[in-house]
Amino acid sequence: MRATLFVFLVALFALAVFIPIAMRAQGAIKADASARAPYQDTSLPAEKRAADLLKRMTLEEKASILAGSGWMESMPIPRLGIPAIKMADGPLGVRSWAGSSAITGLPGSPLKVAATSFPAGVAMAATWDTELVEREGQAIAQDVKALGRDMILGPTVNINRVPLWGRNFEGYGEDPYLAGRMGVAYVKGVQSEGVISSVKHFAANNEEYERHRIDEKIDARTLHEICLPAFKAAVQEGGAWNVMSAYNLVNGVHCAESRELLTGILKGEFSFKGFVISDWGSTYSTAGTVNAGMDLEMPGGPPAQHWLANPAMMENGNSGGWLTAEKVLADVKAGKITETQLDDNVGRILRVIFLSGIYDNSHAGGGEVSTPPRVAVALKGATESIVLLKNEGGLLPLDAKKIHSIVVIGPNAAVAGTGGGGSSLVAPKSAAAPLDGIKKLAGSGIDVKYALGVGMEGEDPAQDTAEAREKALKEAMDLAAHADVAVVVVGRYNKIEHEGADLKTMDLPAGQDDLIAAVEQANPRTIVVLNTGNPVTMTRWLAKTPALLDMWYGGQEGGNALASILFGEANPSGKLPLSMPKEFKDSPAAANYPGENLHVSYAEGIYVGYRYYDTKNVEPQFPFGFGLSYTTFEYSHLALSPAKSSGKQPIVVSLAVANTGTRAGAEVVQLYVHDGHSKIDRPAHELKGFRRVELNPGETKTVLFTLDRSAFSYWSPEKQDWVAEPGTFEIQIGASSRDIRLKAPLELVR
Ligand code: BGC
Repeated sequence: MRATLFVFLVALFALAVFIPIAMRAQGAIKADASARAPYQDTSLPAEKRAADLLKRMTLEEKASILAGSGWMESMPIPRLGIPAIKMADGPLGVRSWAGSSAITGLPGSPLKVAATSFPAGVAMAATWDTELVEREGQAIAQDVKALGRDMILGPTVNINRVPLWGRNFEGYGEDPYLAGRMGVAYVKGVQSEGVISSVKHFAANNEEYERHRIDEKIDARTLHEICLPAFKAAVQEGGAWNVMSAYNLVNGVHCAESRELLTGILKGEFSFKGFVISDWGSTYSTAGTVNAGMDLEMPGGPPAQHWLANPAMMENGNSGGWLTAEKVLADVKAGKITETQLDDNVGRILRVIFLSGIYDNSHAGGGEVSTPPRVAVALKGATESIVLLKNEGGLLPLDAKKIHSIVVIGPNAAVAGTGGGGSSLVAPKSAAAPLDGIKKLAGSGIDVKYALGVGMEGEDPAQDTAEAREKALKEAMDLAAHADVAVVVVGRYNKIEHEGADLKTMDLPAGQDDLIAAVEQANPRTIVVLNTGNPVTMTRWLAKTPALLDMWYGGQEGGNALASILFGEANPSGKLPLSMPKEFKDSPAAANYPGENLHVSYAEGIYVGYRYYDTKNVEPQFPFGFGLSYTTFEYSHLALSPAKSSGKQPIVVSLAVANTGTRAGAEVVQLYVHDGHSKIDRPAHELKGFRRVELNPGETKTVLFTLDRSAFSYWSPEKQDWVAEPGTFEIQIGASSRDIRLKAPLELVR
């Protein structure tokens, strides 16, 4: 009995002691199961989540994430819920992700993706409308998400150094400040939608000639003042999550292997916290690339192997397959890559995966592409981008009530020249050619006829013969002679102006100069329209041309935008984001292009674009910032507050702009700074501000700018820093770089 009682008490004791322990233990397990690891906790900042996730990754996993898994997908790690980043080209809308543009761009390719086709970068820069570019970025990102992707490969912010660069149309022109403002706006718009923006190509991708092998000699000042500011702005002000390294070499080193560019400047000087992606097929080493700070090699996986196995790709200079898991792991084990370095590369990718939201919600797709509001942004961009270069005798706008017949002529009249060729060429659901837009707006009261005039060089061999040319020209002249107005749409197309090769000449393609001259002879009321991304030589016909417009590559709405400008439904407000030289030989880099023996020297230094023309007094055909309107503007009341400053506090520049004409319109007011006392060589002036102002007839608005010390600084290679020398500067307000309307002195003190 006593023994039984003893056993009973022991059992009771055991229950009293162990049950709570067991319960507590069970509770702990339960709590553990419900408490998410820090990397899963959406309330924590991306940095913390990335740091926690990084700790949980094996060395093998870390090594595996530095190369893509496909043509446009990064490597997923399902064990840790790390998704693949799904990319798409860019930057002028969504192209595709199924392969190179050579494959997806083929006529009838089932791999094409129909998306909104926005105007070329150079066109968007011609709007000088940063708000609109931000909306464009947003609209592109919405198409990206609707298509189930996470990242757009754009914007292109490389500077237009040479008018023959095959990709000038993608970029934002010749001025680093303008390109920077555009880049910032694009990135902000894209990333506001949780889509990753890739700022490309870092750095100095300014020619396509031998793009994989060309070695560019660029001094530090030119790099900092011309080639890099747009990247710096996109990173620091735009908050870009990604930067793409360029194909070319800078000062003897491939960009993807340049520790100086990627780690020293981008991640050091500019404090870039995102990750660097390689341009497709631009890596040449394992440790050298990883240690340079190049974080993600693209493409990867079987598509990359297949692509690189093609001898033509290797011959072109493409290279890749260097950051595969095995190769990275081997170099880590051999001590060629430190784990700290690897952690930095991987941590950057993870951080962006968290920051963009794709860790928690990868974009599944299935949404509507190219919605009416997105197309409306494309139309607004195309309309605002058109630059009226000449309008003698008020030929434009056309008065639909007074005109009975129009003949629309030219190789670009009946086709929609939406963009240049290569990875940026978007296939829209529909696109309006100039002829379509003109027919739509002309209505039934105007007889609209069409003539080819001349075939586009190289497009259709049947049109390229002497007989075919003669016949087409005669037809055009006959129609022009009997029409009230002739509109001649000339220019290039995506097989002449494209990525991967430069233009062979600044001249218009074969027969187009003759066409313009002939039509002008047949009908003095001839309007010439340029549809291209680069300047063209105009010396053979311009003197006789009463009206000239540049519509760039206007995206899918280009033809509609052109018609609205021709008929005065919209008032032209675009201004040139690049200088148009009279001839190629006048351009500053002409003597140093494309280089010899795969070396090119940027010997013109900081004298790119108007910095050259305006300093060295070389008259361009049309200057930077130039563009006419159907109305007139007057500038007055320039004031600086304060007029003496250290520049540490903002300097406010104000002026009044009035619309003195009879139509509503927009003026792009430009602010240039002239350094009148510098000890070192400086350009005549540099753009440091601009505003696009919309004004009704008779309306006056105050325009405000704020400047700080950076507006007066140059890059000093000795000090390795920006320097603003105290003294008197001149603030210039202009309607173009060569039409300065107001000036005021600014005394910069220490
Ligand atoms: C281009 C990049 C593009 C990439 C992927 C490269 O050839 O230079 O701009 O994003 O291909 O298509």
